[in-house]
Amino acid sequence: MSCQETRELIHGYLDGELDLVKSMEIEEHLKDCHVCTQTSKGIRSLRSAIGDTALRFEPPANLERRLRSALHRESEPGPKRMILRWRWIAAGMSLVAAVFVIWAVAGIFGRQSTGDLVAQEIVSSHVRSLMADHITDVPSSDQHTVKPWFNGKLDFSPPVKDLSQQGFSLNGGRLDYIGNRPVAALVYQRRQHSINLFVWPSTEVPSVNEKASVHQGYNLIRWTNAGMTYWVVSDLNLAELQQFVQLLQEQSQARLS
Ligand SMILES: [Zn+2]
Repeated sequence: MSCQETRELIHGYLDGELDLVKSMEIEEHLKDCHVCTQTSKGIRSLRSAIGDTALRFEPPANLERRLRSALHRESEPGPKRMILRWRWIAAGMSLVAAVFVIWAVAGIFGRQSTGDLVAQEIVSSHVRSLMADHITDVPSSDQHTVKPWFNGKLDFSPPVKDLSQQGFSLNGGRLDYIGNRPVAALVYQRRQHSINLFVWPSTEVPSVNEKASVHQGYNLIRWTNAGMTYWVVSDLNLAELQQFVQLLQEQSQARLS
């Protein structure tokens, strides 16, 4: 390292702001260079001199009292000051309003993006289950086999419906992981279309009515019912997927009554 470079970096070096390599290069240079060592010593002694108590300034004893009385005079309301004060209040209130609007908008978009994030995970899981040829952990068309299979694997018991009479055959179930929690995935089949139905306990109060959306060409419908969140995804057309949702909801109604 040259003297020129050392002089440029010496303050950073003394303040401990340089990385290890540069610091070592400077130390190496200081060992051999008398001029730069003197400069470094000069900066060090200047620094300790500034820290010396003799250079500190103690304010006069009555400064605080004088400041307080000056502030007191300022705060006495005269007609002019009242106007000024109202302006400040108005400005403050507009600021509060602006902050509230930003907060509300951020809240709306925040919620939307959470829903979108889950939808994204649902589609990914659906595609993965078809790709990896691992669509079911428990391949069974019997709801009384599929439902108990989840015992001990989840902290809830997913409702499993048999809709084979209506043309949606149950193919089985599997464990999945959506929105940072383990969920139940129930697999149905309509002709050659696989349907993944994801179920987990709902955190949404009040319950959400059916909401349909399309992600990456797949139809999705979500809803909540009896404390459970449901997401269904398939390449099946929306009308038939809605029919599937309708049948599920009718079956849970029937079970409740
Ligand atoms: Zn030097």
